[in-house]
Amino acid sequence: MATIKLEVVSPDKMVYSEDISMLIVRSTAGDLGIMPKHAPLVAGLVPQAMRIKKEGTEELIAVAGGFVEVQPEKITVLASAAETKADIDAARAQKSYERAQKRISSKAADVDMARAEASLKRAMARLQVSGKNIH
Ligand code: ATP
Repeated sequence: MATIKLEVVSPDKMVYSEDISMLIVRSTAGDLGIMPKHAPLVAGLVPQAMRIKKEGTEELIAVAGGFVEVQPEKITVLASAAETKADIDAARAQKSYERAQKRISSKAADVDMARAEASLKRAMARLQVSGKNIH
């Protein structure tokens, strides 16, 4: 099966570097399924659980935001933060989720709604990757 190299880079490390068969990411313009021979592109990413398909298995990586760049031989995800399941502290993500929920539902004048919503999305992505249910 055809593969393409995927590198996921966060500010402090290379989070993932493997040959994969497909990457499914949510860009600011919508969902993208990227397979070998995909046309070159650069797109902004929203907070999400990015899906990687490889040898019949699927792995998730939480991405806080950043960019995806597709070149003929390589996909690069330049992430503001990215974590695999093993790297996620689920309790921290749960607390972050609850904090953001509280801020959003308070509707207080001093709450930066866009910031709270972005924080909520980051926490949801981390909880999804960690396999924990949100409650
Ligand atoms: P928090 O509210 O818990 O700080 P956040 O969404 O504000 O979360 P970010 O600004 O996206 O956090 O990330 C800051 C750093 O902390 C990054 O290096 C990121 O990988 C790491 N990080 C954030 N949340 C978690 C988590 N639940 N588990 C592991 N690492 C995390």
